[in-house]
Amino acid sequence: MTVDFQQLHEDVFNVDNRFAHADDDVGCYEGLYLGHAKDSKIRHGGASGGVTTALLAKAIDELNLDGVFVTRMQEDQEGSPLSAMVYLAKNKKELIQGQQSKYTTVPMATCFHDIIYKGKGKRFAFVGLGCHMQALRKAERIIPKLKSRIVLRVGLVCGHCMDRRGTRHLFDLLKVKEKNVRKVEYRSDQWPGNFKVTLQNGKTRKIGQIDWTSYVMTLYERDRCHYCTDPLNQLSDIATGDPWLNELSHEPGLNLIITRTKTGEQFLSNAIDQGQIVATRTEKDKVVRSQKRSLYRKRYMIRAYMEISKRMGHSVPTYTGQFDDRPITWREYREAIVLIVCRTVSAQPVFSKLMPRCGHMFMKYMRKRRNATGRMILK
Ligand SMILES: Cc1cc2nc3c(=O)[nH]c(=O)nc-3n(C[C@H](O)[C@H](O)[C@H](O)COP(=O)(O)OP(=O)(O)OC[C@H]3O[C@@H](n4cnc5c(N)ncnc54)[C@H](O)[C@@H]3O)c2cc1C
Repeated sequence: MTVDFQQLHEDVFNVDNRFAHADDDVGCYEGLYLGHAKDSKIRHGGASGGVTTALLAKAIDELNLDGVFVTRMQEDQEGSPLSAMVYLAKNKKELIQGQQSKYTTVPMATCFHDIIYKGKGKRFAFVGLGCHMQALRKAERIIPKLKSRIVLRVGLVCGHCMDRRGTRHLFDLLKVKEKNVRKVEYRSDQWPGNFKVTLQNGKTRKIGQIDWTSYVMTLYERDRCHYCTDPLNQLSDIATGDPWLNELSHEPGLNLIITRTKTGEQFLSNAIDQGQIVATRTEKDKVVRSQKRSLYRKRYMIRAYMEISKRMGHSVPTYTGQFDDRPITWREYREAIVLIVCRTVSAQPVFSKLMPRCGHMFMKYMRKRRNATGRMILK
C-alpha cells in the first residue's frame, strides 16, 4: 500500500495556499478550538461533545445536502451486533442514530459506489477516520465525480481501532455470550462513556471506557492501525476528537476541533456565530498534549515499528512526506519491540482463552497505576 501524503497535501491545501498554519504534529490547519454542540441532546448523545453531529445537521440544512454517509452498529435482527453498517443519514434524527464512536472495522469506502453511480446531481458530506479520509482523497484524485459531489469531510481523531477479537474479549470480561447480545455501544452514557451491551432479555452490562481501553485496544488493534501515521486526520476539512486533558475532565462533553481547510474554518465559524456550536480557540500546545500518546506512537515510534516489521519479512506501507530524517532512537526501538511481542502473543489462540481471567486483574492494576501517577487516562 502506498499513501503519497505529499501529493495529497498538495491537492487539498496548496490550491491558492489554502492553509494558515503547518505543523509536524498537528498537520495543516486554519484554527484550533475546544467546544461542544449547543443542543444538549446532541452534545451528551455524542462520543465527545456532539460537534460532529451538530455540524453535519447544519450541513444538511444549509448546504443543501442529499445526506451524510455515517455509520451505526447493527442490531441482532439486522445481522451481527458485532458489525457496523454505513448508511446515508438524510436528517438530524437519522444522524443522531449514528452518534458515538465505533471501535471496530467500518467499511466507509462502500459509499463511494453509491456516490459515483447513484449520485448524479447530488451533494453529500462524509465522516471517517484518518484511513477512510486517505482512501477518499486518493479516490478523489482519479474520480472527479467523487470530489465534486462531496462538499464537506469531517474526520475523527483516531488512536486505534480493534478487530472483532477485541469486542469478543469485552463480552468475555462481562461474562456475556455472543449469541445473547442484541446491541453493542462502545461509548454509551456520560463522557468518557462505557462499553455497553444490551442483551436479548433487555438487561445491560457495562465497563468504563478508561478501564477497557487501557489494554484491550492495544492488544486487539487492527493490522492497518499498526502502520498508521495519521492520528489527527490530516486530510479532512474539519477534524474532531476528545480533549484528553486532566484540567478539562471536570466538564464532560467537550470536543477538540481542528479546522484544516478554508471550507472547514468558514463552516465552523458560521456555526459558532449562529449558536449551533459553542467553542473557543485553543493553543497548539494543548492539542498536542491532549493527543500525546497517539502522536508519539504514530508520528515517531512508528518508524521503528515499520523498520523491525520489514526485517521480519512483513510488507509495510510506503508513505511519502510523513517522516523527517532524524535517526530512530533506542527508546523508539525498545517500545516497538514491546508492542510487537504483545501483539504476537495476543494473536495466539491460547491467549484468548487465558486473557479474560487476567483481564479484571489487569484493569485493577492499571487503575491503581493511574491513581498513583495522577493520570486520568492511559491511551
Ligand atoms: C476508532 C476510533 C478511535 C478514536 N480514537 C480517538 C483518540 O485516540 N483520541 C481522540 O481524541 N479521539 C478519538 N476518537 C474520536 C472520538 O471518539 C469522537 O469520535 C470524536 O471526538 C467525535 O465526537 P462527537 O461527539 O463530535 O461525535 P458524534 O456526535 O458522536 O458523531 C460521531 C460520528 O462519527 C461516525 N463514526 C463513529 N465511529 C466511526 C468509525 N469507526 N468510522 C467512521 N465513522 C465513525 C458516526 O457515525 C457519527 O456520525 C476515536 C474515534 C473512533 C471511532
